[in-house]
Amino acid sequence: MPKSKSVGMAQTVLGPVSPQSLGKTSTHEHLLIDFVCMFREPKVASEIKLAYEPVDLTNLGWVRYDPFRNLDNLRLVDEQTIINEVGLFKRAGGGTIIDATTIGIGRDPLGLARISRATSVNVVMGAGYYVDAVHPDTMDEKSVDMLADQIIEELTFGVEDTGIKAGIIGEIGCTWPLTANEKKVLIASSMAQKETGASILIHPGRNESAPFEILDLISGSGGDLNRVVMGHLDRTIHDLKKVVELAESGCYLEYDLFGWETSFYPFSDLDMPNDGQRINWVKNLVNMGYSGQVVLAQDIWGKHFLSRYGGYGYAHILNNIVPRMNESGISNKDLNKMLVGNPANILTIV
Ligand SMILES: [Zn+2]
Repeated sequence: MPKSKSVGMAQTVLGPVSPQSLGKTSTHEHLLIDFVCMFREPKVASEIKLAYEPVDLTNLGWVRYDPFRNLDNLRLVDEQTIINEVGLFKRAGGGTIIDATTIGIGRDPLGLARISRATSVNVVMGAGYYVDAVHPDTMDEKSVDMLADQIIEELTFGVEDTGIKAGIIGEIGCTWPLTANEKKVLIASSMAQKETGASILIHPGRNESAPFEILDLISGSGGDLNRVVMGHLDRTIHDLKKVVELAESGCYLEYDLFGWETSFYPFSDLDMPNDGQRINWVKNLVNMGYSGQVVLAQDIWGKHFLSRYGGYGYAHILNNIVPRMNESGISNKDLNKMLVGNPANILTIV
């Protein structure tokens, strides 16, 4: 298959489609993922038993409170379950899902294609690498040019020999502070952005300064910040002035943890906000004129988020959050930008 760019189109796992046909889009989800890199085995015996049980109603409350301490919860590997879950998104009016799963956490191009065919939901796959902790052993030897070539290959030729092309770069995994290899991947992502015209989706480290350090590196290596989506802002920046500063850089602001309603967050001193607080953040940004830069998602990476396991599922924003945003005074025009227009701009290959 020849290398090619789909300029003016969005590139799904089933091929290029018109950006106008994407519909309501969730910009950061995981359909199939092996997230065991995040497993934190409990210290005490009785909890170690729970940690290795399959997720079910007898342990669901324990799993939900700290969802990284159950191994089974970290794996979304059953295709039929995910087809059912994505079907609920479709029935709620959803059109497109960005699967942000990158190298290191089980990215599955052919699996995503099968899910897309079975559900008639567009799926856009990510290119590039997740955080340093899951980089391959050979990462030290890879040069920035080699990494850029690989990312370009995934966008213009396809991932390995699957023939399935990525449609966005990322989520590119970053920790705080950035490691040397993560810096290489970020610079390579900027180079690939310039070459392919795809946007970059970032998983920032857990520090308020992390998004700024990342944007400096991207712009310093020639990347276009208007084509960068900064993910996980709900757990990263809790100071409105800093979010506005970030918005002024031109990047997209992604509030992508909707549905995470437990305040305990094992990786940071900060409490995880709830959906009411997220709606308030978005409302503030809309009122300040930034609705053209905000996108929304649920970052589903574990079983406890799925409807099948008592979660709110991929349709949560469409079923539950959109009506609340409406009631809070966010207009349909602004909602349409955040759910349809901004994602279509992000996904259009330029
Ligand atoms: Zn992430």
